[in-house]
Amino acid sequence: MTKKLPFSAPQLSEIKAAYPTPFYLYDEKGLREHARKFKQAFSIFPGFKEYFAVKATPNPFIMKILQEEGFGADCSSLAELILSEQIGVLGENIMFTSNDTEQNEYLKAHKLGAIINLDDIRHIDYLEQTLASEGGLPELLCFRYNPGPLREGNAIIGDPKEAKYGFTREQLFTGYKLCQEKGIKRFGLHTMIISNELNPDFFVETAAMLFELAVELKEQLGIKLEFVNLGGGIGVPYLPDQQAVDYDYVAQQVMLEYQRLITTNDLDPLKIYMECGRVIAGPYGYLITDVIHMKHTYKDYVGTNATMANLMRPALYGSYHHISVMGKENQPTDHRYDVTGSLCENNDKFAIDRQLPEISAGDTLTIHDAGAHGHSMGFNYNGKLRSAELLLREDNSILEIRRAETLDDYFATLDFDKLQTFD
Ligand SMILES: *Cc1c(COP(=O)(O)O)cnc(C)c1O
Repeated sequence: MTKKLPFSAPQLSEIKAAYPTPFYLYDEKGLREHARKFKQAFSIFPGFKEYFAVKATPNPFIMKILQEEGFGADCSSLAELILSEQIGVLGENIMFTSNDTEQNEYLKAHKLGAIINLDDIRHIDYLEQTLASEGGLPELLCFRYNPGPLREGNAIIGDPKEAKYGFTREQLFTGYKLCQEKGIKRFGLHTMIISNELNPDFFVETAAMLFELAVELKEQLGIKLEFVNLGGGIGVPYLPDQQAVDYDYVAQQVMLEYQRLITTNDLDPLKIYMECGRVIAGPYGYLITDVIHMKHTYKDYVGTNATMANLMRPALYGSYHHISVMGKENQPTDHRYDVTGSLCENNDKFAIDRQLPEISAGDTLTIHDAGAHGHSMGFNYNGKLRSAELLLREDNSILEIRRAETLDDYFATLDFDKLQTFD
């Protein structure tokens, strides 16, 4: 089984002549076309908005492309808020969904006019104190719901009871009531209970769960929610034989639930928001690396000049990332390899027992579906430097959207001069 590439082996050789490997390469055309398809499917809901989960690919150029396609930004930290500010995603185009949040982060979110989505009932007071000199609580608040034993979650996020996120059901009702008493008029409701899920019915169930809560909130507290945020969690078909989620199917099924619960209970219009990250950027980013050594011991190893410090998903989650050996796309995959990096860490492997064409030193590998949680999860273990990020434009030109780190960057937080007086 193969996966399509938006560039050819000769084209990649040219890019490599200008930029040393390893590097990330993002496909602007693919990113835009998919973003349009995504938005189109859910535009059957008036006021639909997707907030791109910035943590997936916190690069302002990628964010800017998505902004042009009509997406907002889902931020969870001060740095992510600043990235949004830098590209001019402001006000209610920002969803600030954090968890164990510091005051300076809430302050920044509020100053940018972001929608603040609280993770815990105690954060109502914390936010009120934080914003005391800013005029108090915002006019719009959203709460994150954790259904606990009422839902099963999925393999990645796990059992909601064990998840650190969100309000319990009881806290949710108490929280809305408290905020009503404090004079807040505009409310949203959020949940995020699944991750990297390819079964479309999970998303429909999640929407129905939130719609049912919207009905109960109206009945018990007289609250008419302004929006529900279904969270992210749509999966990437990392394996070549996996099926992508059919957005039209999800949108149409959610619409049936909307009519059944929202329209009939006079809660229409209720805006539908989503905050997907992985599926938006994941398939449109590639990690490009060169094979520097072949090694044959008890197994056959392909040694690359990238490491799990560039892409840690395989080591962290045992994730599958498809690998193309450039120029050998049509050769039989009759060799079995572990594809490794150079870290002093035996799980520094991009693939284990992978069937690939015969590889020799000097070959170039393209590691697929690395556009989300790829570069962004990078780290500096063993003094490895973060790679550059390149954008393949629609006219096939290349734009460097982040330079590679240098040793000066790596040592910037050390003061070697201090060693002179240290004994
Ligand atoms: C990570 C995250 C998302 C995005 O999840 P994906 O799996 O990338 O779609 C959305 N919302 C919150 C609160 C998150 O933490």
